[in-house]
Amino acid sequence: MTLPGQLNPSPRLLLGPGPSDVHPRVLTVMATPLLGHLDPQFLVIMNETQEMLRQALQTRNALTFPVSATGMGGMETCMVNLLEPGDKIVVCVGGFFCKRQVEVAGRTGAQVTVLETPWGDVFDLDRIREVLTKVRPKVLSIVQAETSTGAWQPLEQLGKLCHEFDTLLLVDAVTSLGCVPVDVDGWEIDAVYSCTQKGLGCPPGLAPVSFSPRAVEAIAKRKTPVQSWYFDVAMVQKYWSDDRFYHHTAPITMIYALREGLRLFLEEGLQARWDRHLRNHRALKAGLLALGLEYSAVEGHQLPQLNAVKIPPTVDDLTVRKMLLTDFGIEIGGGLGDFKGKVWRIGLMGHNSRPKVVLTVLAALEQCLRAAGYEAPAGAGVAAAIKTYAN
Ligand SMILES: *Cc1c(COP(=O)(O)O)cnc(C)c1O
Repeated sequence: MTLPGQLNPSPRLLLGPGPSDVHPRVLTVMATPLLGHLDPQFLVIMNETQEMLRQALQTRNALTFPVSATGMGGMETCMVNLLEPGDKIVVCVGGFFCKRQVEVAGRTGAQVTVLETPWGDVFDLDRIREVLTKVRPKVLSIVQAETSTGAWQPLEQLGKLCHEFDTLLLVDAVTSLGCVPVDVDGWEIDAVYSCTQKGLGCPPGLAPVSFSPRAVEAIAKRKTPVQSWYFDVAMVQKYWSDDRFYHHTAPITMIYALREGLRLFLEEGLQARWDRHLRNHRALKAGLLALGLEYSAVEGHQLPQLNAVKIPPTVDDLTVRKMLLTDFGIEIGGGLGDFKGKVWRIGLMGHNSRPKVVLTVLAALEQCLRAAGYEAPAGAGVAAAIKTYAN
């Protein structure tokens, strides 16, 4: 075998459901020297990262740290710690990732009740109150930003409602952190997990999690040990607390990355960052509508960072996505599950939520749509976006 050449990936614009492009400042810190994972300097870096993570999640929860895994590892961490065999959980399902919650919860031996809504829709409090009254579960889980449909689930009153029933609220914030508000303490969320490669502008590899004092108490009261050794928070916690008790070797370089991603987030300001995501979403949406495309999530609940639109019936999904990638170096997402072949998902997450990106993807998409035989008024998408920015 001849030795493969030095790695030289093509530059891409990553506008799918994640990963999104890594901010240049994050890449820079990733090329700095490794420290030992118990080096006093690294311990300071861990503390700083944890404290910034609390600010990003708007929480004072002591048990807040990044799990060494991707978003799915965060989901698994929350489920296996909160649930033991026989416990009851209600999972709100309106897309692909909530179905994942059902699978992961089921494997803990918990009794899973599924509350369904059509894909692209969100849940209202009355329906949730009804199921809580009937089932009285230990945990209710829900996805804030359903990446498969582009639906934005409101959470403001949900924690309070769950606590009326002594139920813990578990939230998937994988696609929301860094793009839209995630107010863990204000909304009384008991357990939350996220990732690094979507709204935070870092590579995949860490799953920030946070547990409320209520959740910590519930975990302490378990009758059986957590069946996963690696994801048992009582043990990992000793490594992330002042004990620094060796649990596993932290992925040092990824912690550097997350630290810089969080610095960027807090430097910009939480509100300013959410506003930026909204502004660029409005411009992209105006452009997509002008091209004749329709959103798949219900009006009023569309995520700024994940724009899911229906593929016009005459257009071939793969032809367009392949041309976008080969001619323009742009990646967008196809549909998942029920939406396979039916929707495109255009992400404007973190560093990618900027006018240059919006105008570029609209121009390129129009060109690819034309090549696929779909005629949109020339330049309509870009013109509508520019008009939105001007207002
Ligand atoms: C991406 C995603 C996940 C899974 O995260 P990975 O980092 O791919 O493991 C879970 N939930 C939602 C809503 C997601 O969008």
